Amino acid sequence: MRMTTRRGRFAPTPSGRLHIGNARTALIAWLHTRAAGGRFVLRMEDIDKPRSRPEFAEQIVADLRWLGLDWDEGPDVGGPHGPYEQSKRESLYEQTLQRLEQSGLLYPCYCSRAELAAIASAPHGLDAEGPAYPGTCRRLAPAERAARAAVKTPSLRFAMPDRAIAFDDMAAGRQNAPAGTGGDFVVKRADGIYGYQLAVVADDAAMGITDVVRGADLLDSTPRQIALYEALGLPVPRFGHVPLLLGPDGRRLAKRDDAIMVASMRAAGVQPEKVVGWLAYWSGLIAQPEPVSAWELVPGFDIAKVPPEPVAVTDRALRELAP
Ligand code: GLU
Repeated sequence: MRMTTRRGRFAPTPSGRLHIGNARTALIAWLHTRAAGGRFVLRMEDIDKPRSRPEFAEQIVADLRWLGLDWDEGPDVGGPHGPYEQSKRESLYEQTLQRLEQSGLLYPCYCSRAELAAIASAPHGLDAEGPAYPGTCRRLAPAERAARAAVKTPSLRFAMPDRAIAFDDMAAGRQNAPAGTGGDFVVKRADGIYGYQLAVVADDAAMGITDVVRGADLLDSTPRQIALYEALGLPVPRFGHVPLLLGPDGRRLAKRDDAIMVASMRAAGVQPEKVVGWLAYWSGLIAQPEPVSAWELVPGFDIAKVPPEPVAVTDRALRELAP
């Protein structure tokens, strides 16, 4: 039997700098790919243009390289599936949308802007995306739909299938989402911005990604993405959602905290192997937070062995990393 080459990716949103939580996710996705001799892709998820900044994208690339990670395809190195920036891939998203439209799986939604605001940009859990959409506009009578269409540009929603979606997550184990979890989601906002779920599925499929390794905050998005793959008749990749790294207070890492930024560690003259050592330690890959290079961690890496519980970084670690 001929095995397909594993293809993994890291897909940061350049709306801020790379912090140790993002860096750890990148490291694990990279290790998972390299351990199988696969190809690694870097994709900039700058689809929400007002929130994304080119200087963050450049900084993320530089920080990842400084950590010792590399990629076979990406914005700075090109490759056969480019461009590797979502802002340059809108025609693919439009084509994907058309296919869904032709299958009758989309419907216009006229609900208020506030309800829709979070959807394209913040794919972090159901909270960030707002409550599950109750399906109001799915049930509009044709006359009512026409009346609304006359006064408002709609967003487009994907009608989630009415069945449970289950999958085996390489890191988080068996997942079961009851029918309708998360509700019908927006694939194109009224302002023309394509939704995260649509873009990520279109890109992962077009880039031939076989293994999607990312943070556990995206576990909630996965049943929706699987529904999209299936609706589009595309092969569903394997998923691995790695537990989050938390701040010393046990809360989500604060995006504005300088002490957790890879760039700050770099600027303070900390060696990259020291940072990688802590990232590996927090992932259960080494017993002590000793300096190590990313490549030294490749032999024998197994994502299934990364402990499933979230890990809180300690003040001691932060003192060492950002003196
Ligand atoms: N761009 C998303 C983020 O930065 C990640 C998307 C993904 O890995 O599927 O959170």
